[in-house]
Amino acid sequence: MNKYQILVVEDDAPIRNLITTTLKAHDYRYLTSGTGEGAVMEAASHNPDIILLDLGLPDIDGVEVIARIRSWSNIPIIVISARSEDSDKIDALDAGADDYLTKPFSVEELLARLRVTQRRLALMQSNTEQGSSYTNGLLHIDYATRCAYLGEEELRLTPIEYKLLCLLAQNTGKVLTHKYILQNVWGSSLETDVGSLRVFMATLRKKLEKNPDSPQFIQTHIGIGYRMMKQE
Ligand code: CA
Repeated sequence: MNKYQILVVEDDAPIRNLITTTLKAHDYRYLTSGTGEGAVMEAASHNPDIILLDLGLPDIDGVEVIARIRSWSNIPIIVISARSEDSDKIDALDAGADDYLTKPFSVEELLARLRVTQRRLALMQSNTEQGSSYTNGLLHIDYATRCAYLGEEELRLTPIEYKLLCLLAQNTGKVLTHKYILQNVWGSSLETDVGSLRVFMATLRKKLEKNPDSPQFIQTHIGIGYRMMKQE
């Protein structure tokens, strides 16, 4: 039996059934809700491990559901959106969603996103136990000495690059928007700063990635932001 319980929030019955059938076939436990209000209630009373959330709901908007749940919980939320516009995904991510799937999606994509989120939960657990350091594949960060290593080799990072790396590391598996990164690293979120973020990200990648053109650690979400990938 898979130990994870998933809350599926989707008002479209055929899609909800596709998701629950998939979850059942892979031994997940699940709960369902067809409304936003119902989702908030189910989340509060059952404390599921992961929430799959459709953004277009009949009562309250999915972004509002995220904001309400985030007021008391860090349960990972994967947004499922029929809207292809990036702005909706960005609003959901800024409200505190962890990841997103765009409809139509395949069953394999859904399972892959769940695995990424489960690995993130496990990593957060082990990092909480370790306390003052972070390990993800060859990458190691010692927070006490503010040093980062790739294998045996110390990475020569500028203070901004180190801050960027720590922010991504502390949110491994989660997509961070440009706005979120700018606010947390520079304390501002001006559109014009996205250009400088790209420059810092490029120099960080040059030091961190074996092949900066096909990064292993930091994934780009074009027009949205970046994500630190959990290494196998
Ligand atoms: Ca819907």
